[in-house]
Amino acid sequence: MQITQIRNATILLELGEHRILIDPMFSSAGVLPGFRLFRGERRKNPLTELPAGSEQLMETATEVLITHEHPDHIDPPAIDWIKARGLKVWCSSIDASNLRRKGLNAQNIVEDAGDLSVEVIPATHGHGMIGWLMGPVAGYFLSLPDEPTIYITGDTVLTDRVKHAIARLKPQVIVAPAGTANFGVGKDLMFSKRELIELVGLAPGKVVFNHLESIDHCLMTRANLSQIMEKNGYSEKVLVPADGEKLHFSNDDRDSRVAPAQPVDSKPGVQKWLTAKFSGT
Ligand SMILES: [Zn+2]
Repeated sequence: MQITQIRNATILLELGEHRILIDPMFSSAGVLPGFRLFRGERRKNPLTELPAGSEQLMETATEVLITHEHPDHIDPPAIDWIKARGLKVWCSSIDASNLRRKGLNAQNIVEDAGDLSVEVIPATHGHGMIGWLMGPVAGYFLSLPDEPTIYITGDTVLTDRVKHAIARLKPQVIVAPAGTANFGVGKDLMFSKRELIELVGLAPGKVVFNHLESIDHCLMTRANLSQIMEKNGYSEKVLVPADGEKLHFSNDDRDSRVAPAQPVDSKPGVQKWLTAKFSGT
């Protein structure tokens, strides 16, 4: 298995024959509005350009996987790019119909994953009313024979659901957002600094951190995060790839493989429509 960090939450996951492009945001730097609403430091997004060579790499994608419809996970240029290539878009049952309305060949991954075993692990993008307004997000546990198992958490805080999924599924690799996003008011929208440390403690294998240094309301830096992890004795367990960096993982823990459970069928709430509208995708 290989993971190439592209930018923000956009990665290319190579798993067996699959080359899955996850959460593509292709906008040029400064094209999207700032997301930080209060307490200054609002800047236009994304903060950085796509890394050199990523266009060619992404041309090799065989499928696309979306965790949720916010513009830092799928934006209008990415939608046009996917349509032009006729790529299938895997998503959760919540996003499928809306993505189809946008002209994409969106398929519920649980029904369409072929040789991949999948469990959708609902994610919670913030606390209280803000978390509700941010809308539903899907995390994914993916398992393929002879490859390491992987859990892509999606934008989430550390809920009991996330903790239980890690304890039950024992993912060999976890990919998690570490930007500690904050609108400038209220609690963080994703894992807080304390939760990032707790997450690594719970992880049975490696943790890959992304969603860093690309969006204005994500204030955690890679240097700061690496320092925090080192201070907690987690340097060996944690990977904080630069944009464009490729990581390789081998399946060295076959005995821990756990089969995913049957999916819980969630229904989108009214805020799903609101967030999709707001994102402009
Ligand atoms: Zn995000």
